[in-house]
Formats: sequence, C-alpha cells, structure tokens
Amino acid sequence: MQRKLAAGNWKMNGLGSSLAEVSQLSTAQPTKHTDILICPPATLLSRAGDAVNDSQIMIGGQDCHSQTTGAHTGDISAEMLADAGATAVILGHSERREDHAESNANVCEKTRAAWAAGLTAIVCLGESLAQREDGSTLTVVGEQLAESVPDHATADTLVVAYEPIWAIGTGKVPTLEQIGEVHDFMRAQLCTRFGTEVGAAIRLLYGGSVKPTNAPEIFGVPNVDGALVGGASLKASDFQAIIDALD
Ligand code: PGA
Repeated sequence: MQRKLAAGNWKMNGLGSSLAEVSQLSTAQPTKHTDILICPPATLLSRAGDAVNDSQIMIGGQDCHSQTTGAHTGDISAEMLADAGATAVILGHSERREDHAESNANVCEKTRAAWAAGLTAIVCLGESLAQREDGSTLTVVGEQLAESVPDHATADTLVVAYEPIWAIGTGKVPTLEQIGEVHDFMRAQLCTRFGTEVGAAIRLLYGGSVKPTNAPEIFGVPNVDGALVGGASLKASDFQAIIDALD
C-alpha cells in the first residue's frame, strides 16, 4: 500500500529560530505508514535539512522556476532545490497562481523541471468560493488537473493536493462529502489518464485549514492520502498531532 503523506507548507514564515520546531519533530517516534515533508522558505532549506538529522523527515521547496539556469533574478531552479537537500516541491499553490499569475501551463512546465531535477512535484489545485457556489468545482478542478500535470506522471513523481481557495487559512473546511466528491473525481481522472495502477497509487492530499481537531475525520474520507498543511505545520506539536492522525 502507498504510504500516506503529511506535508507542511510554511509559506513566507520562519526564521532560523523556527528550526527548533523541525528538530522537535525529528526526535519523535518514527512513523509507520506516513512520509513527512516540511517545505520551509528557501532561505531555511539547507539548515532545515541539517535539523531533520537522520530522521525520516524530508525537505521540500515551495516553488521552482521552469528553466534550469539563467537571467531570472530572485528565482530558484529545481536543481538548486535538490542541491539544497529538497526531494519535493510544491507547485501551483493558489497563492502563487494569484500573486504571480501562474497559469496551468506554467505549473505544467515547472512540474517537468521538477521531474528533470529528480524532485517529486506536489501539484496544487482547487476552486474559488465563487466557483464552488456556482457549481463549477469539478469542471475547474478537472481542467487544472488535466492542464497542470504533464504526461508520464508516476506515483513517485506526482502528488496532487486539492486545496479549495476559500478553505485556505480561513478556518472553513468543506464537508466530508464535498472533499470526498472531489477526491473521487481526481482519482478517476488520474486512472483514466495514467492507467489504473498508476492512477490509484498517486497520492491525493487535502489542504485548507487542516488542524489536529479536524484531521481524523478528514483522513477517514476515501481517496484522501494525506494533507498539505499551512498554519498548523508551523508548530511541531500541532503538526505532530496531524501526522499521528494519519499514521
Ligand atoms: P492552511 O494552508 O492549512 O493554513 O489553511 C494550507 C495551504 O495553503 O497549503
């Protein structure tokens, strides 16, 4: 059976002092069924790598450029992330789609770049509140999935995170039925496109206001293979409780 994944997205949070949280996680009991990934800001990547020590915890980036090198001031390539110790990268987060006008095509190019550097791509998608309310959630998610994910995905190279924009950082969470509907839909789309074996093994994360209190019920929804956690990943005790709920 595919392992679960608890991924922490620190966003633009964290200074050197925050690495104490990583060290605290790294001394916890090894997990049986769950991979743990922490995506700190790029400035902390290599120090976070040191802080995870010999634990099973992995380190990831929050974005990468689609090119390998060149005149792109302020950007970071996938190879640089890998060089700093990352094994994965979050791509197409709604905050990047919005703040940096990233399209599905951009996310698709970045995913290819991540794969070329040997990184697992965590491709994010999800509808806005207006789209949820006008009933177009599955259409939007289907389009994002089809256009943001390149051909030849495998369960080792691709993770998909469903993050309804209206649930991110708001404390609002979709109903379990709503989460289940989208996850079942994404699973079916992936199976159709990549074959049942690969499609069934690609991990599907839910993200958006996951907390220790709601994690157990969310993880009980079929086709939820883990979580992409923002705010609650900043504190080791909260993130550990979410990991424990998954494990
Ligand atoms: P949140 O963020 O857990 O703070 O809602 C999730 C995310 O944006 O990945």
